[in-house]
Amino acid sequence: MLNKCYIQITVTFYLFFSCLLASVDVNADESSLNRDFITFVERVETLQNTNITDALVFLDSYSMSINALTVENQVKYYQVLSELHMETSQYQLGLSATAQGLQLAKYLTVPSILIAELSYLRGFGFESLGDKDRAVKNYLNGLEIAESLEEMKYIAEGLINLGAIYYLSEEYEQSLIMLNDALTIANTLDNEELKGSVNSELGILYAYMYQPKKAIKFYQASYYHFKKAGRELYALYSLQNIAANHMEENRYEQAIPLLEELIENGDKFSNNEVLAEVHIRMAMAHVMKKEPNSEAAYQYLIIAEQYVKDVEQHNVPMYFTVKKAYILEAMGRYEEALDSLRLAEELLAKNSKTKNTYSHYNLMYLQSEIYYKTGKYQQAYEKQSQFLTRLLNDENSVNMEKVEELRLSYESKQADLQKKILEQELSVQVMQLNDVTYHEKNLQFLIFFVGLVLLTLAWFLLKITQGQKHLAKVSQMDELTGVVNRRHLIALGEKMFSQAQQENNCLSVLMLDVDNFKAINDTFGHKVGDDVLRDIARLSLDTMRITDCFGRFGGEEFICLLPDTSQKQAYDIAERLRLIIENHQWHNKTLEKVTASIGVASFQKEHTDSFLTLLKDADITMYQAKSQGRNRVCS
Ligand code: GH3
Ligand code: MG
Ligand code: MG
Repeated sequence: MLNKCYIQITVTFYLFFSCLLASVDVNADESSLNRDFITFVERVETLQNTNITDALVFLDSYSMSINALTVENQVKYYQVLSELHMETSQYQLGLSATAQGLQLAKYLTVPSILIAELSYLRGFGFESLGDKDRAVKNYLNGLEIAESLEEMKYIAEGLINLGAIYYLSEEYEQSLIMLNDALTIANTLDNEELKGSVNSELGILYAYMYQPKKAIKFYQASYYHFKKAGRELYALYSLQNIAANHMEENRYEQAIPLLEELIENGDKFSNNEVLAEVHIRMAMAHVMKKEPNSEAAYQYLIIAEQYVKDVEQHNVPMYFTVKKAYILEAMGRYEEALDSLRLAEELLAKNSKTKNTYSHYNLMYLQSEIYYKTGKYQQAYEKQSQFLTRLLNDENSVNMEKVEELRLSYESKQADLQKKILEQELSVQVMQLNDVTYHEKNLQFLIFFVGLVLLTLAWFLLKITQGQKHLAKVSQMDELTGVVNRRHLIALGEKMFSQAQQENNCLSVLMLDVDNFKAINDTFGHKVGDDVLRDIARLSLDTMRITDCFGRFGGEEFICLLPDTSQKQAYDIAERLRLIIENHQWHNKTLEKVTASIGVASFQKEHTDSFLTLLKDADITMYQAKSQGRNRVCS
């Protein structure tokens, strides 16, 4: 209350003050108005960090005067307005503000990062309402603008948005790539708020990948960074994630005080969605803890239901009905619990765009539990087997191995950093050892002690290096053919490219694509197709020099990196390889002939500005070979 009073007074004073200024000097009117607007926005943003309701009231006080502002400032007004709406989970209002902002942005004379910001907000609105396609479209749109303006912070924000939408649709590999790229940018920019956001999203991603121990580290890091950035409300969101993590790991007693703190701060959020979630969690914690209190749980549930009614976020009602069923089941109110689950099923079917695997599991599991407890054994059995079938199917459909490989490779990079720190410490210790003078009485003890420290550090280094070697190997190899994989090919290619550029040497690239490979798969089966890919990899490796690098670029495409090789030489190598493949005797006798088309490209000082350009050139010549009838080399 006191706060609001203060705001009202400030607003009145502010408006009075602006009017006064306007009447004093008519010429300076426009520019001073715009200058004042900037100060005004800064104040809104300060309030936004601590109390969103106040920020919204304050911003609204300006709505009458915006027509007098420059177009850019008008766009800024709508950007701030939509941000506040989104942060209070009022997505429809937020979306209409972004639409107004983007409409005005058409009149901007220079490209502005505000358009990227508005696109991100718009994407977030659609995402929350369950429209994934439009969300992705807007995120990509914003990212494109951020990239064209080379605004690193906003590029990272775009990557964070996309990373989040990918884990929601259970595409963990994509998500890992995006979020790790964003993390790298956040670290180079040394931007606390950005670090907070990316750590928070990485935490959620790790929770999705069933790595709760790692997830909590990210949440803690995000809490720390948000605090450091002065983003109090965001820090509270991190607390909510930490509470969720405790619950995931059955530490309900630890979750409860955190949830209490969130409830106490409820009016600062002014966000029904957050409050609904917090109360649902609190209810769950009360039924799951060591000494359950289902009555208290039910009370929290009733409060949650009040908030859920006004929530626009598409997943929350479904989430609520599942949890409600849990609590009713714990209270022995089985029929009501089943009703709630039936409702949850309907809601899940409606949200078919997001997979919600976990909610499906919960739902089926709980249904079978209730059937069992009420003596309906046949139905319980049916649900149980439905649940198991789904579980097994899901396990086959998500390529967790690939995700795991990627995760390990990123963690190996992190270990690399850790190793560097240890190496530095080691050298500091050595220096300290040198500094110790012979006059020191306890010299022997010191040497012993420092020696011990050195040994321990050396042991750690050894362990880390061993682990890294293993990780590095796994993450550089293509599983099917055993040759270098795409990621490593690009890394090596970039290295070779910069070397060629510096030393003005030749560098050529071959891109090989198996002809009509789909037909081979269709006629002889995938297994034979796989054998063909393996054989081609082996044949090609045998043709190459030791300094060349041959790897699989993806599907039935291979790349060969040829350092110190001119275009003419590369053409000859490609032609030789093409003939070897054409004349190869295949194990499978029914498979008479396999051919390949090869594109050659060479580094040219004036034209090729990057390794990717070189790859693109090779791709173009490969397609020329295809269009000229296949089974040929083009350069
Ligand atoms: P083109 O001559 O124009 O290159 O025709 P294509 O049939 O070779 O090309 P297309 O891109 O139509 O088909 C490539 C096929 O390769 C489709 C895909 O199923 C198959 N493929 C991709 N990866 C693998 C794999 O690891 N193993 C097997 N057996 N097939 C694969
Ligand atoms: Mg292809
Ligand atoms: Mg092909």
